[in-house]
Amino acid sequence: MTHGLDLARVEAELRGERRRLSSLLGLREETKVERTADEMDQIQAAESRELAARNLDQQARQLRLINDALDRIAEGDYGICVDCDEEISPKRLSAAPWAKRCVRCQEAQERAEAGNSRFDASLLRDAA
Ligand SMILES: [Zn+2]
Repeated sequence: MTHGLDLARVEAELRGERRRLSSLLGLREETKVERTADEMDQIQAAESRELAARNLDQQARQLRLINDALDRIAEGDYGICVDCDEEISPKRLSAAPWAKRCVRCQEAQERAEAGNSRFDASLLRDAA
């Protein structure tokens, strides 16, 4: 078993989180767009719609990560970094059971996403 993780417990935790997110995502279907006469209200309504959309985006992404993690548990490669094949630290997994990359690869990924143009992958390789 991968670094002595209690996979049954991790799986239960992931399933619980998936249920929670699914119901959050379902609920929001019922949120109606409010009509407001006042311009200030319209701006605020637009802002809160934007915020809701951002949250939704994040929740949907999280849900995808959770499904991926459950797949990896089923396939027996849970807890292994998808990029470098190293074991993801148990500390990281207990904080983020859906993590599919080790801290180093995750940081590299985030940096790559944040600034593709400025990011120089060779710098990271040297640091690692
Ligand atoms: Zn890695």
